[in-house]
Amino acid sequence: MKLASCQIEGRRFAAEIQGDSVLPIAGSAPLGIDTDFGALADAPREEAIALDSVELLPVIPAPAKIFCLGLNYKGHVEETGRDLPDYPVLFTKFADSLVGAADPIVKPPESDRLDYEAELAVVIGTAGRRIAKERALEHVAGYTIANDVTARDYQRRSSQWLQGKTWPRSTPLGPWLVTPDELGDASGRAISLQLNGEERQRSDTSLMIFDVATAVSTISEFTPLGPGDVILMGTPDGVGFKSDPPSFLAPGDRIRVEIDGIGSIENEVAAEPTPG
Ligand code: MG
Repeated sequence: MKLASCQIEGRRFAAEIQGDSVLPIAGSAPLGIDTDFGALADAPREEAIALDSVELLPVIPAPAKIFCLGLNYKGHVEETGRDLPDYPVLFTKFADSLVGAADPIVKPPESDRLDYEAELAVVIGTAGRRIAKERALEHVAGYTIANDVTARDYQRRSSQWLQGKTWPRSTPLGPWLVTPDELGDASGRAISLQLNGEERQRSDTSLMIFDVATAVSTISEFTPLGPGDVILMGTPDGVGFKSDPPSFLAPGDRIRVEIDGIGSIENEVAAEPTPG
């Protein structure tokens, strides 16, 4: 089952996606902290509407918690010249950092080193604390796609990355959530990124250093996880700032991220409007 958060004429709701059709879930709000993910399969649907008539919101428009793994593919660790981590490198984003699958990525005027990062993202369905790795996947509602757009010049101002990762409307999350019963194993999935039609990243999610179960278990040791929480699983090699020559995003650039079995997102970079 594919699940999305949608908007049409100001109305926001959760829906099942079937091909080119959107089946709104009756009386629903967008997916998030109050969603009973286990009940969605049997929840009544409204009449189908066309997929191209709705705006796809971030799959979870307002998560309580967004976690991100850094340095989680060996190829990316090597291109950054860092040491392989023996514990996941973790940072957070804010809900207002997110945008939908086709929304513009907002480039702030302060940064001229904006960069892309193709990532698998995990959405939590069932709350838990100190979740054993062996049971961690039981807490997953599904999988989606993220572009962890990063202001490299701000990321590198300190040993913490927060200020490079949390700019408003910078991080596409979508297009929809694919439930584990439909996707199967999230490992072994081709992940790729194209910048203006040119392939810049290609890898496989089996090459992650810490897998989804390890991430869920590790994070839930120190903080409770709940429905709608999001975990970005890190990016493979091929990021712009380690390309030769280094390249950074500019207004008008189009970035497409695709993961086998989930789908794709495509976003254009847009300059943040200046006041006045
Ligand atoms: Mg990242």
